[in-house]
Amino acid sequence: MANITKIENKIQILDELLRAWLEATKKDPENFSKNDYAKLKNEVYKKYKIAKPFQSIELIERYEELQADWSLEENLFFKKILRKRWIRSLSWVTVISLLTEFFGCPGKCIFCPTFEGLPKSYIPNEPAVQRAVLNNFDPIMQIHNRLRALEITGHKIEKNDVRIIWWTWSVYPKPYQEMFIKAIYDAFNTYDDMKVYLEKTNFENDKFATFKIKQGYKAKLSKTLEEAKKLNESSRLRVIWIAIETRPDWIDLDEIARLRKYWVTRVEIWYQTTIDEINELNKRWHWNKESIAATKILKDAWFKVVAHMMPNLLGSTPELDKKALAEVFDNPDFRPDELKIYPMMVTDKSELTDIWKAWNFKAYDDETLINLTAELQMMIPEYVRLNRTYRDIPADQILEGSIVANLRQIVEKKIAAKWVKLLDTRHREIREWKNDPQKAEIHTFEYEASKWKEYFLTFEDPEDRTIFSLLRLRLPENPHLTSPEEEEQNNLPLLQERAGVRTVLPELEWCAIIREIHTFWDQLSVHEKGSKFGQHIWLWKKLIAESEKLAKENWYKKMAVIAWVWVRAYYEKRWYSLEGEYMIKEI
Ligand code: SF4
Repeated sequence: MANITKIENKIQILDELLRAWLEATKKDPENFSKNDYAKLKNEVYKKYKIAKPFQSIELIERYEELQADWSLEENLFFKKILRKRWIRSLSWVTVISLLTEFFGCPGKCIFCPTFEGLPKSYIPNEPAVQRAVLNNFDPIMQIHNRLRALEITGHKIEKNDVRIIWWTWSVYPKPYQEMFIKAIYDAFNTYDDMKVYLEKTNFENDKFATFKIKQGYKAKLSKTLEEAKKLNESSRLRVIWIAIETRPDWIDLDEIARLRKYWVTRVEIWYQTTIDEINELNKRWHWNKESIAATKILKDAWFKVVAHMMPNLLGSTPELDKKALAEVFDNPDFRPDELKIYPMMVTDKSELTDIWKAWNFKAYDDETLINLTAELQMMIPEYVRLNRTYRDIPADQILEGSIVANLRQIVEKKIAAKWVKLLDTRHREIREWKNDPQKAEIHTFEYEASKWKEYFLTFEDPEDRTIFSLLRLRLPENPHLTSPEEEEQNNLPLLQERAGVRTVLPELEWCAIIREIHTFWDQLSVHEKGSKFGQHIWLWKKLIAESEKLAKENWYKKMAVIAWVWVRAYYEKRWYSLEGEYMIKEI
């Protein structure tokens, strides 16, 4: 009885708080501030003598319930405040991270922990691991759980960026790979059906907002991967991108073909360092030549390449770390599109743990790491996106190494104090639309990457170089080289290698390739009122027109672009048509 009273009281208080908040918001919506809300909340808490504040998801869920049974009036402005207050990102896609089951790894990297029952390299109380364990590594449950948590905290979930975050995807048994990928599409296709069978989400002391499904629910799963992909084309919740992580020495033509079949769009590969001796000392057991080959073949086959680097490896020094990263950009054979930098750390259950215990390894102190990271960040060129500078390992799991989780902020403050402007794309992507897109101009950056020419086009504010929109154009072969004699004179091995990619993706023959096109807008659906996409699609048009012009100037006759169903109509209007997985146009 006591419990029921407690729950009833709680609901009553939540209702009172929501109604008071809604009323206060209505009076002067534009000027209702955070402080106004804090004042109002404190009054209600004081009245009911509440010591521990409610969680934001409790308020949102109660608001949804009241809306559903018409007990509270619909107020779009209020809804927007609710959403905004807890929204984590204004990115137009929602990131969903998934863990797979453990299948071992051929690598023997000394820093890689092995905990029983977990994929190699993962640590038990990392949030993504906890979520995966809670769901028995079932991809559908992991996705439904995450979507539910995101949805009730006010996020848009229509467009999703799925990241499979175990490090050696390519070594999984192929049937498991296919099952896992199919399950991803099934999960998004069935989420709305599943919700009908949902019991109340449990958020009592549970940061993952787990939920129970009523008995009788049976997911309508597709029979094949192709069917699941097809269904996703018209599903409310779409898979926009899929990323996998793998070793460079496992990328070959078969792998490329498989990744295209799965509609993987981004491949993360670990260079770690570009100094072979250091990779050897750390038992990576692959060489630069494999990193270089993987980078090239992935770019030629259209994928976006994210490279990982690891300063502070055994045998390295800050000077060698700088040299290793300089090679990534000075040597055109590397030059990835995106980068993650994680300093090596000692955790339990790795070979490095023993090396460290025997006093044979010492991590950089915080000051050294901060200074080094600042120097590394300042080396990153304008065509690269720096995604991370620190792996979020719980501090109590780090035996040796920095526990400064906000390393990036500290480093960037330091860089700003030197009046250095970082040029990597993440620093320049528009946030909150403070710049005026009408003033934007096209900026063209040409560079050599993995043997062929690349253009990095941006629509940017010329004053502060803020990017509204970007496009990566690759010219993966010279269409002049048509006769075998000419090909022989012009580096036959390279052309043969390129021809290899054409054997698995024949539709790309002689095509210039748009590898990425991206306009930064919030995740309002395309037709929703206020969508920045609708307002700024002209940025896309101009970038595409510019890339077609550049391709023509380089003697290309065809342009290929990857195109999800929801933008195909857009390309069709511009005389592109579907060939294989690509939209292709004679230019
Ligand atoms: S390749 Fe990745 S998962 Fe395998 S041992 Fe090395 S770090 Fe660990």
